[in-house]
Amino acid sequence: MPELPEAESIARALDKALKGRTIRKVEVFFPRLRTSLEPLLKAKLVGRKFVDCKRRARYAVAELDDGRTLTMHFGMSGVVRVEPASVPRRKHEHVFIHLDDGNVFRFEDPRRFGFLEVQRKGADGWPECLAGIGVEPLSPAFTGELLYAAAQKRKTSAKELVMDNKIVTGIGNIYAAEALFASGIKPQRPANTLTLEECRRFAKEVKRILRLAIKWGGTTVSDFKNVDGSEGKFAQKLKIYSQKKCGKCGAPVQTIVLGGRTSWYCDHCQK
Ligand SMILES: [Zn+2]
Repeated sequence: MPELPEAESIARALDKALKGRTIRKVEVFFPRLRTSLEPLLKAKLVGRKFVDCKRRARYAVAELDDGRTLTMHFGMSGVVRVEPASVPRRKHEHVFIHLDDGNVFRFEDPRRFGFLEVQRKGADGWPECLAGIGVEPLSPAFTGELLYAAAQKRKTSAKELVMDNKIVTGIGNIYAAEALFASGIKPQRPANTLTLEECRRFAKEVKRILRLAIKWGGTTVSDFKNVDGSEGKFAQKLKIYSQKKCGKCGAPVQTIVLGGRTSWYCDHCQK
């Protein structure tokens, strides 16, 4: 599943490919992803121009010149491409948006858990479907103090705390594991036992790791690819997620299931 760095890479690539382009035609080849695709056909997109594309949480949000947005999430297997119309449609490419430069925005999603909707913007300037989500981990608003305050009220594990989208958005399984490892916190620690110092360390480490992952084009997992077809290289940098040996001390990596997801940790390096 594309995580925050992958979504950031996609949004940046789409910003380049879509900015200033006018929509010429919309085609839908399958009735629905997570939600119905029919509204796309009725949204009167022809003639509208893309202003830019930005990331919020794990969504890419392409803004149109009438103030609406084309909001997308990649679910388990969603891939977007912007390629010439002459490239034949692949089996699971469910939506084509033809652009005035001869390219086509294509949304491919074999498992169809993705999301592609025209959404109005709410008061905060982001699509209405994203209202109520937490702060961005890379923004100055995400601090150890914020995490510590949220932790006091929770009896969940540290891992579930940092993956709670209402507190901080977009930290998925991979980056939660890596950042907890880097800050020396066991994922199963009760959230309300975290110290302010540990929360500060986590905030610092998760920012460092996400920035590094964005630089390296994300982590290629299963069939995720960037919009240009290249693969993320961050997988080579993983220290604990899905590893056999701890990236610091070499001890065998332990696993535990928390909130329904596998968590990797080192018994020696994390307290
Ligand atoms: Zn270790």
